[in-house]
Amino acid sequence: MDFSEKARALVQEQIVEWDLAGRNYEGLRRVSVKTFDFGDYSIDIQYNPERISSSALQNKVQSLEEHNCFMCEKNLTAPQRKISFNENFNILVNPFPIFPEHLTIVGVQHQDQQILNSFESMLNLASQLSKFVIYYNGPECGASAPKHLHFQAGLKGFIPIENDFANEICCREVRTIDGVKVSHWPEYQRGIITLTGSSASDLKACFDKIYTQLQIFSNVNSEPMLNMIAVFDRKIWTVHIFPRSVYRPTQYFNAANDQFLISPASLDMGGLIVTPREEDFFKITEEDVFDIFEQVCFDTQSVLTVINKL
Ligand SMILES: [Zn+2]
Repeated sequence: MDFSEKARALVQEQIVEWDLAGRNYEGLRRVSVKTFDFGDYSIDIQYNPERISSSALQNKVQSLEEHNCFMCEKNLTAPQRKISFNENFNILVNPFPIFPEHLTIVGVQHQDQQILNSFESMLNLASQLSKFVIYYNGPECGASAPKHLHFQAGLKGFIPIENDFANEICCREVRTIDGVKVSHWPEYQRGIITLTGSSASDLKACFDKIYTQLQIFSNVNSEPMLNMIAVFDRKIWTVHIFPRSVYRPTQYFNAANDQFLISPASLDMGGLIVTPREEDFFKITEEDVFDIFEQVCFDTQSVLTVINKL
């Protein structure tokens, strides 16, 4: 059962029925994009003003309880609609799109955003929404609602890491664990652990080990800070894990002239950096990108330390 066509139809219907979605998907046609060429790979910068509303919503939501949670089904109001996905999730249209077809996939239950018990759900979503990439932002690094389990999905083909991985650019396989290939990205600015495999249970077992090692490395008992992108293609799952050292770079907290309103999450990690403010879009340089990634990501050595302990 593939939900891709149903989900794509929902986006087109909601654009017509729902003013907010209609306006913002129309606005997406006018976003500006510039590309930084780093030789073997590139990074796209997208200026997307509507994401300010999304960030504002995110800040507001963090203080809200279940009765006000915008992801809880009982608080969904028409004309927003859902598609049920295997009883445990609802597929919604994201009204603040970065992709021309952008979904939010929310748990039916109001429960904390956490990946350890939801990893297999992410794989299921990737295989049953096969025209989309599925991504996960940890509760402390980019989740729009840290108190309500959710993923997001965007149409395939828009995040640079997809092509870079397919073309084996910068990515190097280092180990195989129970049939799961483990790769890292030594010259890609971001410390990334990539898993590929055809067995959901083997991938889950490998991910559990990585999760534990990231907890030890980061010295936390709770979920280690991470973002993830999962795709399914020709019966193989690819899962990119981006361990994080901090959520926001120092530039976020600078005074006006030196400030960048950038809160990196999965898509930024995948090479699509979103700036909600026009001034940041024009101001940001290749050196800033380097500096921001260096602050918020693991370095190559840290990633290898984690992989070698698996
Ligand atoms: Zn909720």
